[in-house]
Amino acid sequence: MTEGLFAREAAVLMQTYRRQPVEFVRGDGVWLFDAAGNRYLDCLTGLAVVSVGHANPRVAAAVADQVSRLTHVSNLYYTGHQVELAERLTTLAGLDRVFFANCGATANEAAVKLARRWGQRRRGRSCYEVISLEDSFHGRTLATLAATGQPGKQAVFEPLPPGFRQVAAGDLEALDAAVGTATAAVLVETVQAEGGVLPLAEDYLHALRDLCDRREVLLVVDDVQAGMGRTGQWFSWQGLGFEPDVATVAKALGNGLPIGACLARREVAGAFDYGDHATTFGGGPVVCRAALAVLDEIEERDLLGNARARSDQLAALLSGLPGVSGVRGRGLLLAAMLEEERAAEVVRLALAEGLLVNDVRPDAIRLAPPLTITASEVDEAVHRLERALR
Ligand SMILES: *Cc1c(COP(=O)(O)O)cnc(C)c1O
Repeated sequence: MTEGLFAREAAVLMQTYRRQPVEFVRGDGVWLFDAAGNRYLDCLTGLAVVSVGHANPRVAAAVADQVSRLTHVSNLYYTGHQVELAERLTTLAGLDRVFFANCGATANEAAVKLARRWGQRRRGRSCYEVISLEDSFHGRTLATLAATGQPGKQAVFEPLPPGFRQVAAGDLEALDAAVGTATAAVLVETVQAEGGVLPLAEDYLHALRDLCDRREVLLVVDDVQAGMGRTGQWFSWQGLGFEPDVATVAKALGNGLPIGACLARREVAGAFDYGDHATTFGGGPVVCRAALAVLDEIEERDLLGNARARSDQLAALLSGLPGVSGVRGRGLLLAAMLEEERAAEVVRLALAEGLLVNDVRPDAIRLAPPLTITASEVDEAVHRLERALR
């Protein structure tokens, strides 16, 4: 049955994804079930999306209730859940205003457009540039691809939109030299997730904040992957001793329902006029109900505390595994570094052991389990990974 599906997929879908040979039909908490009924421990959660677990009952109930009441009206009208979600997010983030988007890339598009509008008002039309970092990832739309510091992903789509450039992460002098009168914003991830789960050093982040203040440019944090509890804080900059002017979130915000958000300080958000930006689906009632349920789950079950405790446990166990040379990352966004470049093979073997992880680099395995994972499930995940490594 499943094999027939692979052939049908190849016949009708554009071949942009190299998929693992498995068809999932159901999920329950940290577990996924394939078409044959085999059980897999999900330590990837769809790339840090399903943070409160598969088929989360609170999210499922909220979504089912909302779908049966009101699915969509345009942003020409008011809906209460969108406002409530914005109130909750701004309070948690320490930022003032929200624009709801549909995913990470569209949240970042909103941030880039906001930065351009802000720059224009501040220093005129020649102020529009966004500087980001090498090894970053900000999305697949043309603008967010232009901001993504991965030449391999960019080259075949040139010419990319102008107004973007990258400097090496950690190199303050290079950044200082790159910032000029054309610069509107500096865009960074606190942990470069797709780049290989590379955490930026705290003192570098502090220096970034200082530099942005001194040169009067916006500091934008792309928290699409590291936000919403993933690092053991609501937002990844919290606990690192600095605050951004603008931030984006998406992946875990709707636990699998598509929603993104761009948050900003009041004065920055004021750069947008009526009509400057819009979306059909962004901030719709169903996805906002899902996100509100996600926030309730994280709060009421103290999942930030659990993420921190399970992170310590997981990092300690991973670093003791054969063939693992070290562990990097923050919270429950971790990478086990391998002594050899065999991550793709280990991922395949792990799948056969009933464990989902991914090869974020040829020599690094990414783990991003649900924030709900228990201590014994962490033990089980590490046992399965150990069998794959042997
Ligand atoms: C996944 C990701 C994006 C893009 O999000 P999409 O929802 O796939 O558009 C942007 N930035 C970061 C840091 C991401 O991890």
